[in-house]
Amino acid sequence: MTRAMAFCPICGEVVAPRESNKAFPFCNARCKSIDLGKWLSEQYTVPTVPDEAGETDGDAASEYDKVEEHGQPTPREPLH
Ligand SMILES: [Zn+2]
Repeated sequence: MTRAMAFCPICGEVVAPRESNKAFPFCNARCKSIDLGKWLSEQYTVPTVPDEAGETDGDAASEYDKVEEHGQPTPREPLH
């Protein structure tokens, strides 16, 4: 059984197996931290949902619309 070679997603270098590589699946700790930084910066750019802002009228209204749509379907006159 051949073990597939892993390549560092940051620099593309061959990654040492997990047993001998603390930074797995990266080739070394530096690439690991680079990837971590990428994730953090992406999280900061993505706007988070305001939980306790108190000014989410638009969101609340759209949620109520959905509930009405699915919970109480508008009765329609049957076709004759
Ligand atoms: Zn690397």
